[in-house]
Amino acid sequence: EIGETAAVLGCNAYVAGGFVRDLLLHVRNTDIDIVIEGDGIRFAKTLAEQRHGVVHPHEKFGTATVIFPDQSRVDVATARLEYYEHPAALPTVEHSSIKLDLYRRDFTINAMAIHLNPERFGTLVDYFNCQNDLKERRIQVLHNLSFVEDPTRIFRAIRFEGRLDFTITRHAEKLIKNTVQMNLFEKVEEPRFFHELKLILSEDDPIPALRRMAQFKLFPFLWPDLRPNLKVDRRFLHTLTQANQAISWFKLLYLPDRVETWMVYLLAIMSRSRTKELISFCHRFDLPPKQRKKLIQQKTDAERIAQEMQKRPFLKPSETYWLLGELDIEGLLYLMTIARKRYIQQAVSLYVTTLRKVVPLVGGDELKTMGYIPGPQFRAIHNHLIEMQLDGEITSHDQALAFIR
Ligand code: ATP
Repeated sequence: EIGETAAVLGCNAYVAGGFVRDLLLHVRNTDIDIVIEGDGIRFAKTLAEQRHGVVHPHEKFGTATVIFPDQSRVDVATARLEYYEHPAALPTVEHSSIKLDLYRRDFTINAMAIHLNPERFGTLVDYFNCQNDLKERRIQVLHNLSFVEDPTRIFRAIRFEGRLDFTITRHAEKLIKNTVQMNLFEKVEEPRFFHELKLILSEDDPIPALRRMAQFKLFPFLWPDLRPNLKVDRRFLHTLTQANQAISWFKLLYLPDRVETWMVYLLAIMSRSRTKELISFCHRFDLPPKQRKKLIQQKTDAERIAQEMQKRPFLKPSETYWLLGELDIEGLLYLMTIARKRYIQQAVSLYVTTLRKVVPLVGGDELKTMGYIPGPQFRAIHNHLIEMQLDGEITSHDQALAFIR
């Protein structure tokens, strides 16, 4: 349908980038990026009209997002015709605009497109022999200045390498090392770096990427105040592995709770640093206040609780309940990460799966109908009931009522 709409408007439509890469790799990807040779915004508006969608145009960039009634969406970009001046008397040459669009992309594996117009539907557009790099499972840049032009591509290369189990080519490796030496990072807006780091830390297993970041000496840029500069030693890897295991364990529970895995990894990476250093990290990367507050609170609370639990191996379930009650899921998983004793991890696991969801045998409403008025005494009775229930001292509604009386 996209191709038909484009044909009617007299322009060419392609699907490009990550979608094509994943299609050729047989990996599921629902992010559809359309490139239009012509007026992308006009195309997006027409498509939205035909399919009863809503269009959000960004006139300045010639891009638009179309959201359809079933909430699926496509991003539309415009490939503008560009003219290259040739030296001397040669005339100006008009390049095929999709070619230029693809040439500006980060890596060859992301620089392919598929034609969508009906007469050429399904034709792969591959100007730079990208298929070969995909087949050979390698991450290659399109030109030598790629990383200088946009140093965040270094993080992207590392992320794709880790996720797809590809290899960054020797050539690209050299270019990365040169760019790192040039200190070009200082020119990039910090939030963009953070965004890329966050994407790395949100991967299923970010550990290979983190090792690579250390190899490329990227840690001092991200964590300049960690003294001595963060080293990927055995202890560091052990902490990251613990974080990875805690997150995998949690995901396998299939609970409805959302977890920001990047926060757990970030806390794990900075587990040997003081809170002051986390604060300065958040400041430098201009994290939103809510995220800052959460990270700092989870770090301080989880570390304090870990110490306390270390001293008290025989906590009753009710004690665990009160102790862990202040932590978010991210803080709980961080606590599992830094716990040095198995019983601490077991207590957190019991809390996450059971204790925190306990339904009181006698609820607040019932207490009210019994004539108790909300206030300190009310809360004390309520809490005491929960404690007895958690510790197995009362197991039925009748027992709870008997206790109250
Ligand atoms: P993911 O599966 O992680 O979303 P993706 O390849 O779809 O991977 P996006 O960040 O959505 O990644 O980018 C879409 C496409 O835009 C990429 O495939 C690539 O062609 C291009 N692109 C993204 N970021 C850059 C960049 N910094 N420089 C050049 N091209 C980029």
